[in-house]
Amino acid sequence: MVHDGVLGVDVGGTHIRAAAITLEGKVIARRQTACRAVEGFEAVVARLAATVAEAAEAGGLPPDAPVGVALPGPVNPHTGVLGLAPNLPGWHDVPVRDVLTARLGRPVIAGNDLNVAALGEWRYGAGKGLRHLIFLGVGTGVGGGVIVDGQLLQGRDGLATEPGHMVVSLDGPPCHCGGRGCLEAFAAGWAIARDARQLLDSGMPSVLTEMQAERGEELTGAMVTGAAQNGDGLALEVMTRVGHALGLGIASLVHIFNPEIVAIGGGVATAGEVLFGPLRAALDAQLMAPFAVGLRVVPSALVEDAGLLGAGVLAAGAE
Ligand SMILES: [Zn+2]
Repeated sequence: MVHDGVLGVDVGGTHIRAAAITLEGKVIARRQTACRAVEGFEAVVARLAATVAEAAEAGGLPPDAPVGVALPGPVNPHTGVLGLAPNLPGWHDVPVRDVLTARLGRPVIAGNDLNVAALGEWRYGAGKGLRHLIFLGVGTGVGGGVIVDGQLLQGRDGLATEPGHMVVSLDGPPCHCGGRGCLEAFAAGWAIARDARQLLDSGMPSVLTEMQAERGEELTGAMVTGAAQNGDGLALEVMTRVGHALGLGIASLVHIFNPEIVAIGGGVATAGEVLFGPLRAALDAQLMAPFAVGLRVVPSALVEDAGLLGAGVLAAGAE
């Protein structure tokens, strides 16, 4: 039986995930494979094509069902060329739309993964039925996407938006982008680990000392988040600073875009009240009153499927 539907693909540094999706946003079949990005462009494209073919067959989709692809880097919406994607060696300045269209034999639209996640969250998740949404992904990095008046904001070259590199502090810590004081330099996993390490080095007691010794691992953002949820003082201090930085960043975004909802996804966003408490306090203190009326700040409803379902939204526009 042949179904109406589209294909969504989410390409990350570790996995390629593909799904057959109905036009109502229901996943009817999904397949996943290791990305093994170090093997380079050709090898990853071959695995992507195989995974898409399996998902299409399992979902009973016709050979011309369109494909949306979420990639970990900016894609120019006019040329379909992928810009810098640090997690995909060999993909820099590649015409991904044309290459994948030829390889898959289907219409393809590609986009930046966090813009795509914003589309998914807007159409099928926390922003369903609304017209103005900001999506933030807070995990190993900080990124996001903005929907204004029912349209994804992409800018001249598809580089918009990079809320993680919005400056939230004068003289703040250095960021991976080369700037200083960016939101990412306070809220990404690596920044959380850095702050916790600094407090540990200053002699502050914490369960993180034992956790690190037991596991023999580098401190991670996830370890700090977990310790904060268990009431560890040092970890709580770190997460309070993270929430504060996110609250200030979100206040700036809300002042610029006046959204109805801000949805927060990514690993750090699963921290719960240890993050959202200080985040809301900073946001309330910073926000001008009219912007706060009716504004909702919520965890992502789609969680890790935001990118996959958003790729389906892209695909629906690919015919
Ligand atoms: Zn930065």
